[in-house]
Parts: sequence; structure tokens; C-alpha cells
Amino acid sequence: MKKEEMPKTEEEWKQKLTPEQFRILRKKGTEQPFTGKYNDSKEKGIFVCAACGGQLFSSDTKYDSGSGWPSFYEPVSNDKIEEKIDESMNMSRTEVLCSKCKGHLGHKFNDGPKPTGLRYCINSASLDLKSKDKVKTK
Ligand code: FE
Repeated sequence: MKKEEMPKTEEEWKQKLTPEQFRILRKKGTEQPFTGKYNDSKEKGIFVCAACGGQLFSSDTKYDSGSGWPSFYEPVSNDKIEEKIDESMNMSRTEVLCSKCKGHLGHKFNDGPKPTGLRYCINSASLDLKSKDKVKTK
């Protein structure tokens, strides 16, 4: 998506996204575990933001966490995501957002595998898998 096409208002986002994507990306919702289209995906490629197309995670860093959501041990690069403390639901969690469009992606936990020990627990609805040759790296 070109910069000038980035929606500015929630109404514009609503037009652009499916109701499920809107609920998750713009309203910080969560999809039901084990229901998302990328939970079990082993396909290779780059997961981009379903809202703005920004690169987020490589399939090379995806692993099966058993949580029911697509899980990655690191983002494509740290500047692609933003983190925010989320104190909702009587928990203290680290929210993960797309740095480009500020869409909600999921949460980050410290129980991931090597080499980072991190688990980026991401909603499938916030992701779109693109083959590597269709995505410019860096
Ligand atoms: Fe985005």
C-alpha cells in the first residue's frame, strides 16, 4: 500500500478491513485459539501486516508453541513492531503493534525458544503471508 493510501480514520479502516480484522487490528481483539488460518501454517514466506502490508515476521522464525496462535521468536527487524505495556484483563502483558499503521498484532511473552527466548503470539487475522520473492527485504 502506498503511504497516501493509509486510512486515517477508524471509519476508513472499517471499509478496508474485514469485520474480524477490524475487531482485532483496530480494537485490540483476539481471535479464538486454534481457529486462525496461520496457526498450523508451515508455508515459507514473509508475514506482512494484514492492514498496511508492512513486513513483520519471517516464516523461518515461526514455531509451534501449542498456544493456538501463530508464534514467532523474533520479528523481521525490531523497527517493524512497537511494544506497549497492556494492563487489561487483570494481567500485565506486552502488546505488540505494527509500527507502520499501529495495528494490534498480539502479545510478546518470555517463554519462547532459542535463540531469543521470546514468543511473539500473533493473531492470524493481523497477518498476510507473502512469498519471499514478492517482498522487498529491508
Ligand atoms: Fe500495519
